[in-house]
Amino acid sequence: MNIFEKRESNVRSYCRNFPALFHRAKGSIIYSESGEEYIDFLAGAGALNYGHNNDYIKQEVITYLNADAITHGLDLHTSAKEKFLSKFSEVVLEPKNLDYRIQFCGPTGTNAVEAALKLAKKITKKSGIFSFMGAYHGMTLGSLSISGNTKVKSGLLGTSNNVTFMPYPYGFMESFDTIEYIDSVITDVNSGIEKPAAIIFETVQAEGGVIVAPLEWMQRLSELCNRHKILLICDDIQVGCGRTGPFFSFERANIVPDMVVLSKSISGYGFPMSILLIKPELDIWEPGEHTGTFRGNQLAFVGGTAALKYREISRLEQDVKDKESFLHQFLHEQIASINDKIEIRGIGLIWGIDIANFGGSNFAQKITSRCFDLGLIVERVGRNDTVIKILPPLTIEIPTLEQGCLIIKQAFEDYLA
Ligand code: PMP
Repeated sequence: MNIFEKRESNVRSYCRNFPALFHRAKGSIIYSESGEEYIDFLAGAGALNYGHNNDYIKQEVITYLNADAITHGLDLHTSAKEKFLSKFSEVVLEPKNLDYRIQFCGPTGTNAVEAALKLAKKITKKSGIFSFMGAYHGMTLGSLSISGNTKVKSGLLGTSNNVTFMPYPYGFMESFDTIEYIDSVITDVNSGIEKPAAIIFETVQAEGGVIVAPLEWMQRLSELCNRHKILLICDDIQVGCGRTGPFFSFERANIVPDMVVLSKSISGYGFPMSILLIKPELDIWEPGEHTGTFRGNQLAFVGGTAALKYREISRLEQDVKDKESFLHQFLHEQIASINDKIEIRGIGLIWGIDIANFGGSNFAQKITSRCFDLGLIVERVGRNDTVIKILPPLTIEIPTLEQGCLIIKQAFEDYLA
């Protein structure tokens, strides 16, 4: 029995699907201690948009460390934070005419989701939240209460308090006007459900199975929230930071949520960091009302500032569009053609191969584990883990992207032969 099985909690998860001892990583490749190479289509679940050990970002981090600069700073004013705030304003907010205050939260995405929920309730003096079926927002109690996966929830946790799940435009709901439904629940005085403080949504349900919300749906959701004075919170933790092309995933719908949650790749280098963007008039926090020891990871500020500079010099946004075209074509021509029950969905550099109706959960598990044997790390998401999720670093080279996709195709062929 190895030390992980002997000592680490049973709760560990990714390591069970990718059983190797990982040691080194560069760009889109991870190396095991025994020398195997794996193409990385998991990218730290979206925390490594700029690749492993990105040279540009690494240099800035090393320079900072060598200067004995502050590494832990609570929420003190530091030069690293000053630079991050300035760069984020200059290259993200101002060019897009977005005016948000930035709240640094505890280091995980779920902590910023909790902050958003607390603030929305404080502002509106209402306790209800509407979320969507299929949503994923994290594993602390508040975030879990607004997440869809009932397997990890339990009545014992008391996580259903005042949360109402609305239908996301997916499956048979695609032919159902979900926005009109939400509207009627809010306006019907006998609907049994009070008007909520906020509606929280993902523009692409990533863990939910790579389900991309239509533009018009997002626009109507935003309009509905404005009309009913309900706060709109966008959880851009996984598909923000350029994953869909532009910096924010909601930009494509031309909407401005009241609050935006960012984490994962915001620090550029896989360092823990999460932030909540708040419209200035909604920033009614009292000092210290959502505090925490680790809200000032200085290396994350340095990495995050460097990542924003890297985005500029590398023309990453255009690059993502080119790779999106490649994936769109490959997956439709070479994977969907295997069987017409396979569904392909995606945008930017997040794509799903849905095999719920073609072999289901066990088959999906076999495919991803065969992929691992062939040198590819790729995970499963969605209902019963039936969607193979392609989430490479945005910086991946097209030949490596193609090689990874060919491994997936090979895995299907191996099982169907
Ligand atoms: N929201 C979304 C959309 C996510 O994808 C995740 C992480 N997979 C979270 C929230 C939670 O982030 P964390 O795991 O850092 O708490």
